[in-house]
Amino acid sequence: MTAGLKSVLIANRGEIALRVIRACKEMGIKSVLAYSEGDKDSLPVRLADQAVCIGPAPVNQSYTSIEAVISAAMAYGVDAIHPGFGFLSEKPDFVAKVEEEGVGFVGPSAEVILRMGDKIEAKKIARKAGVPTVPGSEGAVADYDEAVAIANEVGFPLLIKASAGGGGRGLRVVKSADTLEKDVSEIMSEAEMAFGDPSIYIERYLTDIRHIEIQVISDGENVIHVGERDCTSQRRNQKLVEESPSPVLDSKLREELAASAIALCKEVGYKNAGTVEYVFDNIERKFYFIEMNTRIQVEHPVSEMVSGVDLIKLQLKIAGGGKLDLTQDDIRLSGHAIEVRINAEDPERGFAPGPGTITHFHAPGGFGVRWDSHVENGYRIPPFYDSMVGKLICWGNDRDEAIARMLRALDELHIEGVTTTANFHKMVLDSEKFRSGEFNTAYIGEMMEERAKAAEAAAAESA
Ligand code: ADP
Ligand code: ADP
Ligand code: MG
Repeated sequence: MTAGLKSVLIANRGEIALRVIRACKEMGIKSVLAYSEGDKDSLPVRLADQAVCIGPAPVNQSYTSIEAVISAAMAYGVDAIHPGFGFLSEKPDFVAKVEEEGVGFVGPSAEVILRMGDKIEAKKIARKAGVPTVPGSEGAVADYDEAVAIANEVGFPLLIKASAGGGGRGLRVVKSADTLEKDVSEIMSEAEMAFGDPSIYIERYLTDIRHIEIQVISDGENVIHVGERDCTSQRRNQKLVEESPSPVLDSKLREELAASAIALCKEVGYKNAGTVEYVFDNIERKFYFIEMNTRIQVEHPVSEMVSGVDLIKLQLKIAGGGKLDLTQDDIRLSGHAIEVRINAEDPERGFAPGPGTITHFHAPGGFGVRWDSHVENGYRIPPFYDSMVGKLICWGNDRDEAIARMLRALDELHIEGVTTTANFHKMVLDSEKFRSGEFNTAYIGEMMEERAKAAEAAAAESA
């Protein structure tokens, strides 16, 4: 395929479906949205050039049904499928089937997804490319006896990881030898249930770290990066706030990180957009590769805002056989961007998801403010899917301006009828810890614990 894409099937929903529809429109590509009955009244269904219902609301009958998605692509004769993130985006069986049917895929080949999606294999490839990895088992850990041997080398605390894990699932911290046997067997069966693959491996659990990742994009020959994203603001290993640039990297470390990400991509012959993820040890100021995501990520807008590069358009261009018309020297990163994920969850109740109907909605706006979302007045959040209702991204000349702008934009955002994480984000961004730029992946958990304790004490006093 060299002529460029004429039509694309979007096998996703919500804000990322809308994001791809928007890019297609600007490129003159016909967008065909594959949607479930649960999303029939959604904005993406109305905005796509065409929309096709591929099944009932439960994901296994629609968004993750390989058959349903591929039949829709065949029926509409599209040139390619954009998988968005989650769902089928990193499923090698799906991509192999797409390739077999002669349909294009907006992402790397099934072979590359298979290799990099297996976190054990990905670590091996990283080591081969000279990329530092977290100390731990060389490969899969077969059973408890092997885990004991590794634990003796690595020490406690350690982290057991499911090779097929993702989205913050398939990770378990083990504090001491006492629970190791139980933890190994539990996480193996959890991984089998959740991902259909019980393979696990072990890493040293680093306690004072940041999460820093590099956004890469490759046309198969030329591999470039658009800088890093710092996703240290997490809760239970899930990202909540992302920013670029990282407040802690100097130019030497930044260059080393980017060079290692590019070396890894070259090692596997990577094509299309991807993210190479690292943990960064705050004390030793060293980075270690943890995994690669072979798809567009939730937080990609942060990199778009500081680079001016439209990553989705580049994805579509490359999938159509096009080449990057940019070299690394053309990439100029400027200012600072922050993204917060607005989820329909209640932070006061352990971030319990709360679907419902949005009775009143108003989006923020103004200079440097970007609101990526599919919600509108009267939107009913279906109970079947992820609780993310939108992403608010703010750009500023520097980090302080980006923070001030985000706080201003969060004040403007009005979502009534359901509880969201918007107020929680105000608290985080306004905190001294966040403003200082110096924190680790544990700070949000600690902040929430302190709040809970303070609330308890206040309740006890008034009782
Ligand atoms: P990102 O890696 O893009 O920053 P997440 O890790 O939150 O963001 O993952 C993106 C989306 O994909 C989320 O909706 C998440 O629930 C989903 N996801 C990621 N990995 C998996 C997986 N292995 N199985 C199921 N869902 C996943
Ligand atoms: P997922 O596939 O779920 O995204 P990752 O391997 O990317 O899993 O890890 C998710 C998060 O878990 C990281 O962002 C980081 O905060 C934490 N983490 C991963 N590996 C380690 C480690 N060895 N030590 C401490 N924390 C880690
Ligand atoms: Mg990850």
